[in-house]
Amino acid sequence: MDIERFRQHAQEAVERMAAYLEGIEEQPVRSRTRPGQIAAALPEAAPEEGEPMEAIFADLDRIVLPGLTHWQHPRFLAYFPANSSPPSVLAEMLTAAYAVNAMLWQTSPAATEMETTVLDWLRRAIGLPQGFTGVIQGTASEATLCALLTARERALGWQGNEAGLFGQPPLAVYASAEAHSSVEKGVMIAGFGRRHLRPIATDDAFAMRPEALEEAIRADLEAGIRPCCVIATLGTTGVGASDPLEPIGEICARHGVFLHVDAAWAGSALLLPEWRHLAAGVERADSFVFNPHKWLLTNFDCSAHFLRRPEDLTRTLSILPAYLQSRETGQVIDYRDWGIPLGRRFRALKLWFVLRSYGLEGLRAMLRRHIDLAAEFAGWIRETADFELVTGPNLALVTFRYRPGGTAEGKALDALNERLLHAVNEDGRTYLTPTRVRERYVLRASIGQRRTERHHVAEAWQAITGIARGL
Ligand SMILES: *Cc1c(COP(=O)(O)O)cnc(C)c1O
Repeated sequence: MDIERFRQHAQEAVERMAAYLEGIEEQPVRSRTRPGQIAAALPEAAPEEGEPMEAIFADLDRIVLPGLTHWQHPRFLAYFPANSSPPSVLAEMLTAAYAVNAMLWQTSPAATEMETTVLDWLRRAIGLPQGFTGVIQGTASEATLCALLTARERALGWQGNEAGLFGQPPLAVYASAEAHSSVEKGVMIAGFGRRHLRPIATDDAFAMRPEALEEAIRADLEAGIRPCCVIATLGTTGVGASDPLEPIGEICARHGVFLHVDAAWAGSALLLPEWRHLAAGVERADSFVFNPHKWLLTNFDCSAHFLRRPEDLTRTLSILPAYLQSRETGQVIDYRDWGIPLGRRFRALKLWFVLRSYGLEGLRAMLRRHIDLAAEFAGWIRETADFELVTGPNLALVTFRYRPGGTAEGKALDALNERLLHAVNEDGRTYLTPTRVRERYVLRASIGQRRTERHHVAEAWQAITGIARGL
């Protein structure tokens, strides 16, 4: 494709993007495609001869679009948001065109220096103290894995990478029973062994109980197992609970244990001074991650990872083969040493576009709107007969269930709510995901799309209650 054709098709692509976003509300939120349907519509092998863009665009409309679940739909209430915004999309388009690899400072100085700078902007914006240095990881899962590897190496006197883990003393990792599954995965990948992950009991608000953490650490010490790392969560995935960092940090400091804070979703809310109390005690953390790709209008992937001692991370991950040495090695930041992959996209650009285009006040206004909507939604649940608010609102997350005539606890009630969930998601006006709260099956509504307004949430609630009555 020559530049003239590229220019023409790029304009068509932009037109498609705008039309997509304009018409998104008319679509069912979750794709109605059946398993295998998209694959069956695609040829078995790549074409031998190149095809014109017109044919490719036509198949995009015919095959791909019906197979999309519309994450940017204003009535999308499932999972956590993976929201996006026009300035972020513009930056992603430019990033794709520049197509630089930001693995070393030298392989694009602007990408490296902008990453350092915008992460410091973010650090200030969320009130993390000075002395934390940021890096963009692909996902919170990767940041948590990096933290676990660093904690492991620190606990083993930097011998794990050298000698391997066979013959090393066992190390234990602690996280609340509500922690994200990426913790367990990281524990497996980093070689701790799943059986050395201690699920710590939570209190009535689903936050880690510090006394239970202290007890677990003591039990391990008595058994000759070395406590290595605590992973605290701000904003758990199930219900949005936040672990108390102050007492947890104190326990970690006393036992010399590494503290990683997973604030994947809730970290964005720390832009709001009125929610900073959630992170009280964060200055004791060794590592902190949150995802601008969740609730801060920045396209996936963009996970902001802050470290108190980045030199411990690079000591854990850096290797320097001859072909990666450069004249500036040692004088500049080479981000390849700060994460798992070597190659890295220029991800700071979209964050820069978003922060400049909205300003912190613009972002705060969106976060407050979502949090207020969740409070209002929780009010509707409380006021509606046969519905029960189970948790929240925690920031912009609520869980609830349908309980007609005060049906007794148990399998039948769980099954009824599961039927309701499937019916709501088939209907298409909104999209919810389930979770378990102390074994009970509940529905979860998370508000966070850029264009979600009060009437969208009201329409979603109307759909849910109407469908429930018709079950
Ligand atoms: C979403 C989430 C994650 C995983 O985020 P990725 O960036 O997809 O890896 C981790 N922890 C919590 C608490 C989350 O909500």
